[in-house]
Amino acid sequence: MNVLVTGGAGYIGSHAARQLHTDGHGVVVFDNLFRGHRAAVPDDVPFVLADILDTDVVEQTLRKYAIDCVMHFAALTYVGESVEQPLAYHHNNAVGAVSLLRAMERADVKRIVFSSTCATYGEPATMPITEDTPQMPINPYGWSKLYVERVLLDHAASHDAFTFAALRYFNVAGCATDGSIGEDHDPETHVIPLLLLTAMGKREHFTIFGDDYGTPDGTCIRDYVHVEDLIDAHVLVMNSLQPGDQRQYNVGTGQGVSVKQVIDAAKRITGVDLPVQPGARRSGDPPQLYANADKIKHELGWVARYTDIALTIETAWRWFKDHPDGYRGR
Ligand code: UDP
Repeated sequence: MNVLVTGGAGYIGSHAARQLHTDGHGVVVFDNLFRGHRAAVPDDVPFVLADILDTDVVEQTLRKYAIDCVMHFAALTYVGESVEQPLAYHHNNAVGAVSLLRAMERADVKRIVFSSTCATYGEPATMPITEDTPQMPINPYGWSKLYVERVLLDHAASHDAFTFAALRYFNVAGCATDGSIGEDHDPETHVIPLLLLTAMGKREHFTIFGDDYGTPDGTCIRDYVHVEDLIDAHVLVMNSLQPGDQRQYNVGTGQGVSVKQVIDAAKRITGVDLPVQPGARRSGDPPQLYANADKIKHELGWVARYTDIALTIETAWRWFKDHPDGYRGR
């Protein structure tokens, strides 16, 4: 299949582009390089430096490469930033997706796999989260993604052959198992990269954002899904979509892991007793979020290969050790 990967120079998109390329699909990466890295994309993959808001360029690209399916990763993804700059999030994520869909309509491309998020659920009253858990975001990032889910439903309702899947990711973690590509964010806000940067001495200490939650060890619980497992889910979904299908899936391991458990695993994997200090809660952090991913397991046979947080951290550690300056060192 010919696949356009928007945001294909970013963390998750680059893992998707690489996997699809390895699997023999025709891959085209479309990225504005706002936060992505050109070096994350294989040299022999066509690269279009442009913005999804530029509908004409998207349309031309879809036509030029006879694209069959779009995997749409391009988005702004920081919850805190979305609270400070809501318009940037609604513009890039919501308007950007509408622009992409209009280009797809014009170029007659009818299949899309969309990166949604567990942030669309907000702070659910019950765990684990199923696809039927009410979606009530608590920040602009979550709203921008939920809006796109709505747009997809509306568009599909008026176009019989159009088909989509919205994958609601939990906490994506880890790097390519062979250490070839990885995670390089600026600013970095995620727990595992921050722990590894601290182990490398690039940060003075790691701060736990709250240890007084009503969880067994007092720290927040999340569901960490390995990026390669997540990409497997995309490929399974893409291959299974039939004209008219409208699907939503949670993608997580189903296991809740606390911040303290992540810290312990990071200490074990790095062999560094990295300095940790307690800190205040981060606003907008729900105490616990973990998935019930039975739907994608039962319908598509997806299984998470990484169910041990230490093994996930090990793949990230390989990348960080070998690329202490991220893609700048390449
Ligand atoms: N966290 C933390 N200290 C940090 C960064 C994150 O204690 O420096 C916690 C955060 O409060 C959350 C978990 O680690 O409970 C995962 O945070 P991350 O930002 O990686 O992902 P999120 O769940 O916000 O998408």
